Amino acid sequence: MAIESRMVKVTLMGTGTSTGVPVIGCSCATCTSSDPKDSRLRCSCYIEVGGVHLVIDVGPDFRYQAMHYHVKDVDAALITHHHFDHVAGLDDLRPFLFRNRTSIPCYAQRNTASIMAEMFAYIFKDGKYPGVPQLELAEVQGPFVVQSRSINAGVAVTPIPIVHGSLDILGYRVGKFAYLTDVSEIPFASLSLLEGLEVLVLDGLRDKPHPMHLTIEQSISMAAKIGAQQTWFTHIAHDLTHVEIENRMPAGMAPAYDGLQFVVNL
Ligand SMILES: [Zn+2]
Ligand SMILES: [Zn+2]
Repeated sequence: MAIESRMVKVTLMGTGTSTGVPVIGCSCATCTSSDPKDSRLRCSCYIEVGGVHLVIDVGPDFRYQAMHYHVKDVDAALITHHHFDHVAGLDDLRPFLFRNRTSIPCYAQRNTASIMAEMFAYIFKDGKYPGVPQLELAEVQGPFVVQSRSINAGVAVTPIPIVHGSLDILGYRVGKFAYLTDVSEIPFASLSLLEGLEVLVLDGLRDKPHPMHLTIEQSISMAAKIGAQQTWFTHIAHDLTHVEIENRMPAGMAPAYDGLQFVVNL
């Protein structure tokens, strides 16, 4: 599809919880389902807007996702938090540096950035040597603009402070799209940053309460409060099948699935 520069094209490259679905060794109804929507890679979101290419989270499935969804470039990585399922694929950003040596910024808030510097000390701390990915940590302190690494274009990004159990983490908004994975609570002050959304992607793990995530029921009421035109739920566990979740969704809400694409206004 031809995309105008004022449009934001979003591809959900993974919509599963931290283990991925199927879960290794599990023979439950979801993990053995033949519905392709019951196979979920770890969460990652690719955004193309006005010639700028962004990826939100670079998890352990990133290499496969980048090939499968034909990711041509990454101008910046927007990191929500440092958990393995969101950052383990960072080294696989290297091929985007082969043709364009301009370093790729990895945006993260301070607590996340300092832990990432320890986790990936060979990238962010050690002296550069050939073969080390040219990635730079960029500390997020408020709204920022990501510049293309190859053309004269930029896109504004609004970080959305959210709570993931005991961690303060970030979601991100680009135009009329917001992406909030791994949420247990949305601070009141963040709700005003989520007004006027066409599409919201929101955590919706499962029915059983979890200290770090919203249940599906909690996600539905949170989504109603935010009031996006359409809400897709992500970071889904194997407790329920896609169809089971879909069948109980109110209008304007649905479980996301790997490969879901949509376009919103900037
Ligand atoms: Zn996660
Ligand atoms: Zn299972």
